[in-house]
Amino acid sequence: MISPDEALRLVLDAATPLPPVALPLADALDLILAEPVASDRDDPPFDRAMMDGYAVRLAGAGRSSLVIGEIAAGSSFASSLDDGQAIEIMTGAPCPPGTEAVVPKEDVRREANRVMLPAAIRPQQNIAPRASVCRAGQTILEPGTAVTPLVIGVLASAGRAQVSAIPRPHIAIVTTGEELVSETDWPGAAQIRDSNGPMLAAMASRLGLAEIHLAHARDTPDDLRAALDAADDADAIVLTGGVSAGKYDIVPGVLAERGARHVFHKVAQKPGKPFLFAVRERPTRSSFGPPQLFFGLPGNPLACHLCFHRYVAAAVRKMTGLPPASPPLAGRLTEPFSVTGPRVLFQLARAERNDGGDWLLTALRGRGSADLINPAAANALIRLDPQAPPTESKNISFELLHPLS
Ligand code: AMP
Ligand code: MG
Repeated sequence: MISPDEALRLVLDAATPLPPVALPLADALDLILAEPVASDRDDPPFDRAMMDGYAVRLAGAGRSSLVIGEIAAGSSFASSLDDGQAIEIMTGAPCPPGTEAVVPKEDVRREANRVMLPAAIRPQQNIAPRASVCRAGQTILEPGTAVTPLVIGVLASAGRAQVSAIPRPHIAIVTTGEELVSETDWPGAAQIRDSNGPMLAAMASRLGLAEIHLAHARDTPDDLRAALDAADDADAIVLTGGVSAGKYDIVPGVLAERGARHVFHKVAQKPGKPFLFAVRERPTRSSFGPPQLFFGLPGNPLACHLCFHRYVAAAVRKMTGLPPASPPLAGRLTEPFSVTGPRVLFQLARAERNDGGDWLLTALRGRGSADLINPAAANALIRLDPQAPPTESKNISFELLHPLS
């Protein structure tokens, strides 16, 4: 059995960034840019007035100048400015040739067609010179840049309606189990409702994944094969249930039969020991595309949650070209508890900051390993390693499940 760290390493080794695609600008939000972007114009494209006021000559300082016209944003003035002249100008308008400074409106006195200028005028004041931000052809965004709303603004200013970015993976979620009915159905005496399918779909949504294919398979090879056939376009296929040692745990066999190589099966973690990870190469016309990843999560809802959070989410980030999630935090347990047995314990918890800024962690221990109800208020996941039992309950490693929670 491999350790959770080794398992994560193997998952990340297999996950490769997807080939870039051209996307409309708005669809690139929160993706990673896959091309360098150059400015198509000088920025600013002209000497730009930075204040509402007057474009003036320095010779006019402390004297009155003749106002020969006005320039609103979006228009320009053909002739140039001579000594003794001024032009009323608005923020964002191009300064006419000959402009040596822009004097703000509040610093002048206007009388009919003349304007009295202040005694001190700094050369070039309130003018953003042409190309002072960047020149046409200059690279303004490097590949690998995360497309934030600010970057969307930059791309729009450079005239990009489409950009090349690493897309989000398509994900399929396949629940397995004869005993399951959906939340809209009334379960029979021996049945339960499917909680993993909706929970995993919600976790996928939080990763920004939009293309989520949901399917359910009964515990028969034919039904599972049909569900996997329907999910065959997905980059990552997340299955729940049917990966343990039971007679009807058919997932490992059906995946192997379809050419998915088992990378590991079983991880020394609690919950989630039966976790299976498999990879299938995908031939494209010329070579091999990024491999298809299969995550066989145990059916136990807490195990399922942990394995998606820890392994599937990490793989999705890597496939999307994103850096790994932020490193774990450290906090203090409000009530100590210890880890029994040789496996690493992942425990859902409530993390709150006290007045001193320290994180206080309260484990939300369920009644049994299948209890999703009592840990449902969790916003954090604690990690306790058996090799390094905490002597005190300080410096406990944990991570927040989601910034919003
Ligand atoms: P399995 O991994 O298939 O042996 O399932 C382990 C436990 O998780 C069993 O008690 C199942 O009934 C339960 N389980 C499996 N899949 C789901 C699911 N989608 N939603 C809720 N519970 C499930
Ligand atoms: Mg099952």
